[in-house]
Amino acid sequence: MSNRSKINKTKSFDSDELYNNCNSDPKLVTCSCGKTSFTIFNGRVRKARECACIDCYQHVIWAQSKDGPQVPPILSAGYWDNDIRVESGEENIMVILLRKDARAKRTVAKCCYSTLMIDHPGYKQLRFGLYENTCSIPWDNDSEPPSITRPPSDRIFMKDWNASRGKLPEFSGDPLRIDQRVGLPFHENVNRQSIDNPMGETCQSLFRRLPWFSLDVKEGFIPKDKNLWPNLKPVEPHAEAG
Ligand SMILES: [Zn+2]
Ligand SMILES: [Zn+2]
Repeated sequence: MSNRSKINKTKSFDSDELYNNCNSDPKLVTCSCGKTSFTIFNGRVRKARECACIDCYQHVIWAQSKDGPQVPPILSAGYWDNDIRVESGEENIMVILLRKDARAKRTVAKCCYSTLMIDHPGYKQLRFGLYENTCSIPWDNDSEPPSITRPPSDRIFMKDWNASRGKLPEFSGDPLRIDQRVGLPFHENVNRQSIDNPMGETCQSLFRRLPWFSLDVKEGFIPKDKNLWPNLKPVEPHAEAG
């Protein structure tokens, strides 16, 4: 245990070594009710981070208003190889945009409003995102939680942090890697620039089969009364989904 904490302190946060305790066997991710599931063929995370951005927060609070999973004040997210297979409940999955022209696409399983894969053009079709607390992602071993085996390499978009979200936990990594936005030199460093021997499909290929909706909410709008969230409106898939 003390060895491991030492390792995390001495290993470069830009290095894939940070995730040496992450089990690379395929992981079966499930929504919180268990009806919807998919496999990530490479169980070793590409990178993990904490994101305080208002868009992530707005999305998860909206999903929570639909009785989706409860989320902590700051979200932990991982980037995984874009090589997946839906195992069950594909008919539940919807692509949700906060606004029609939004670049981030977050999928939600309507059985329980768990948030599943997240795509963004910046991910370059190599990776997709998953929040640790909005679905069930297997641990890497029996005894250590994901915060140990896939620790956040940085904490971003603190300019959007607001104390109304709750108590901000202390950042477990290098304090120099707490960023107001996402502009520090390291942020583009991602592990692995290709996916060798893909076994499933990409999230772009999956998203082409799914219904798309926009919430059409103003940036940052978090209603006090959860009944004031707008209804989802169907939208055409973005061309860039290809
Ligand atoms: Zn579900
Ligand atoms: Zn975010």
